[in-house]
Amino acid sequence: MATLLMIPGPVELSPGVLAAASVPPPGHTSPRLIEAFGRSIERMREVWRSGPSGQPFILAGSGTLAMEVAAANLVEPGDKALVVVTGYFSERMTAILHRYGAEVTEVAAPVGEVPATGEIREVLQRKGPFKALFATHVDTSTGVRVDPEPLCRLAREAGVLAVFDGVCATAGERFDMADWGADLYFTASQKAIGLPPGLALMVAGERALAARGARKAAPPLYLDWESWLPIHRAYEERKPSYFATPATSLVMALETGLGEILENGIEARIETQGRAAAALRAAWKTLGLRFVPRTEEVTGNTLSVLLFPDGVDASLLPQIAARGVTVAGGLHPAVKATSFRLGHMGYTATRPDYLRKAVEAVAGALQESGARVDPEAAVAALESGLAVPA
Ligand SMILES: *Cc1c(COP(=O)(O)O)cnc(C)c1O
Repeated sequence: MATLLMIPGPVELSPGVLAAASVPPPGHTSPRLIEAFGRSIERMREVWRSGPSGQPFILAGSGTLAMEVAAANLVEPGDKALVVVTGYFSERMTAILHRYGAEVTEVAAPVGEVPATGEIREVLQRKGPFKALFATHVDTSTGVRVDPEPLCRLAREAGVLAVFDGVCATAGERFDMADWGADLYFTASQKAIGLPPGLALMVAGERALAARGARKAAPPLYLDWESWLPIHRAYEERKPSYFATPATSLVMALETGLGEILENGIEARIETQGRAAAALRAAWKTLGLRFVPRTEEVTGNTLSVLLFPDGVDASLLPQIAARGVTVAGGLHPAVKATSFRLGHMGYTATRPDYLRKAVEAVAGALQESGARVDPEAAVAALESGLAVPA
């Protein structure tokens, strides 16, 4: 029996995306592919809210490639980088930055929390000058969300580039690239964008592109924005071009997926995602579950990172799967054995029946594990949350 895939990526696909990804792969210079690529570039600017000056890039690769591209283009050996640490993926950013010779200063908070803005400001002033500030919008290992807006403001004040890992957030959390003055925001196709894995997606602002242009040495060829700029510009002008073969089937899916996200505008999609997350939180609370993020303000809307109740451990996961829903185990070392993660981003957030099935599966598995829970009350909490008018 196929289960619903509710891990923090890959995610369930919409029928439209599945159909678009399933056509025979078009050639990279075919008119259909050129149109899909060009439209995807235009739609990314809307989803990212980057305005016309944002430069989208669509590369074959996973989210980690996008992180690598960020470091490769923006950081030269000896540059100082500040990393706001809210989980496992922030630590990965640090590891990647080290590979590119950056001198990294981390500002970390206890697991489940976000470092205070004042502390970040103080480090920017005292330990700079920094080249760039990196933060994870929603860290998938902790479920913690940072607020990018004040970080962008601090970065602007300090003359530092503001870079955000949106791999578990883009199209699921509010992000106003142009208004906030963010310089780079990247994601991967298999998270809240709602595609199969395989695309690294990013939008670079003018300052980020200028920083690449000002480098002493060019980055590795495949990672270099300047390798990709001519072909992205050509596709946007609906002209054929070649640098390295794009993942053509996935680009077909991207055009459709971004179109679905933008169907009623990006705000409406973010709103749907937020309402689904709030309704699920109400259901988890009804089941007595506690969250790894310490406050609602720092809780991401794209996934739930939940602590096992007393007397329950990871053997809960196969019991949830037996009820038709696949969830993920803990990832962050501090909560690896004590937490589990349930993704509810992208198309899934638009499907009340999927959300209900998830709540029923978790409630049923908890009951089987001996927890005293009321599955019907949890479903009722979910449904009243979903019924809240926009
Ligand atoms: C999933 C994820 C990544 C890594 O993406 P891959 O596609 O697995 O390489 C990076 N950052 C965050 C926040 C993620 O959720």
